[in-house]
Amino acid sequence: MSDLMNNLLVSVARRAGSYLESLEQRGVAATDKAIARLALLDEPLPEESATPEAVLSLLDEIGSPATVATAGPRFFGFVVGGSLPAALAANWLAGAWDQNAGLSGTSPVSARIEEVASRWLIDVLGLPTGTGVAFVTGATMANFTALAAARHAVLRRAGWDVESDGLFGAPPITVIIGAEAHPTLLRSLSLLGLGHQRVKIVPVDGQGRMRAEALPKLTGPTILCAQAGNVNTGAFDPIQAICEQAHEGHAWVHVDGAFGLWAAATPTRRHLVQGIGDADSWATDAHKWLNVPYDSGLAFVREPEALQDALRLAAAYLPHDERRSPSQYTPELSRRARSIEIWAALKSLGRSGLADLVERTCRHAARFAKGLQDAGYSILNEVVLNQVLVSFGEPETTHRVIAGIQNDGTCWCGPTVWQGQTAMRISVSSWATTEADVERSLAAMLRIADREKTR
Ligand SMILES: *Cc1c(COP(=O)(O)O)cnc(C)c1O
Repeated sequence: MSDLMNNLLVSVARRAGSYLESLEQRGVAATDKAIARLALLDEPLPEESATPEAVLSLLDEIGSPATVATAGPRFFGFVVGGSLPAALAANWLAGAWDQNAGLSGTSPVSARIEEVASRWLIDVLGLPTGTGVAFVTGATMANFTALAAARHAVLRRAGWDVESDGLFGAPPITVIIGAEAHPTLLRSLSLLGLGHQRVKIVPVDGQGRMRAEALPKLTGPTILCAQAGNVNTGAFDPIQAICEQAHEGHAWVHVDGAFGLWAAATPTRRHLVQGIGDADSWATDAHKWLNVPYDSGLAFVREPEALQDALRLAAAYLPHDERRSPSQYTPELSRRARSIEIWAALKSLGRSGLADLVERTCRHAARFAKGLQDAGYSILNEVVLNQVLVSFGEPETTHRVIAGIQNDGTCWCGPTVWQGQTAMRISVSSWATTEADVERSLAAMLRIADREKTR
């Protein structure tokens, strides 16, 4: 048994190593041929057993080529990040541990590491000491979790217990969002019974920033959702001004900072999140800019009691714990130990390494913008962070260039429409991207754009 397990783990380590090495040579997108070969996995449920090694060998042979090389250094399509070496390795070890992170009794190590990682995160993101932290799957669930706490708190102040009595007959909650709120925030609002149509929408400026002077007058139970880091432009809502106005009206301010919150980790970008600590809750991703494996997101709530009250769970068979009980902060009971990778990423980077990761990727974005602009193409956004929007001319030309870049395989970028203008979107968020990767990708973009514009 133990020999078999050992050999298997050694073999999978070798396979994973070869895979990551192969990303230097192969195209970023999966080839049509690799995708077609996935049909070989599409068989009826096998009647007979197979050896673990045979299973892994098949998965590697058919599966590895059909991946998108997001673990590599030249995927700029979405803000996805890669996996830092320490984070990936910690993920493997934690996989071997097979811990249920929901209870400190089922995983003392995970419960303790959650506490340590929480403290580090609060520190490096500039959030108030004592903020409650929930380790969830991504920013979608982090928004959901934080907004559940918000819903609890604003209704409690209005004398209503939403967990017991639901929303039927409850005092209405005013929900305010910016016109550029992320679509997943709308889904969180729907799931919480707050609706995504009945919201008040605040107009935004040319960068997608909520216009603080256009905020409606705030009265009664109100949740205001601001954004730190627009998926297209990377722009930040004026959080400080928003918090000042919102708190005069006793509103709850939630910040969706799926990737933008990490601007707080570097002195050179910290001004972008000025006043962030004045909000009441925050959501971010760890699987984006912190570069840990999927799936990993974080909800932060200034008053940990609001989070716990919104998610309380009690049963005779579940131990009452005087210490922080992990499942009292998340929608799930059983879950994997996501904090292990977050801890490993922060431990391996340190404060300076994290600042450098954020700073470096922003610098790469600025280099893309400059290189494209120098060649005569229009940059549609102020490149304040890691996001670049470039137009290659007419919408059809831009689409042809994007298709050309995706087929070429040197790097990968996708399309977007920004305030009516078709653009290619470049997001730089992987620890693995080097200056050489940026130059190589930029050269490919310019070569393809040059070819397509004269067609
Ligand atoms: C990516 C993103 C989300 C959703 O995050 P997931 O990790 O995909 O659930 C929400 N808001 C913003 C601003 C994002 O960039």
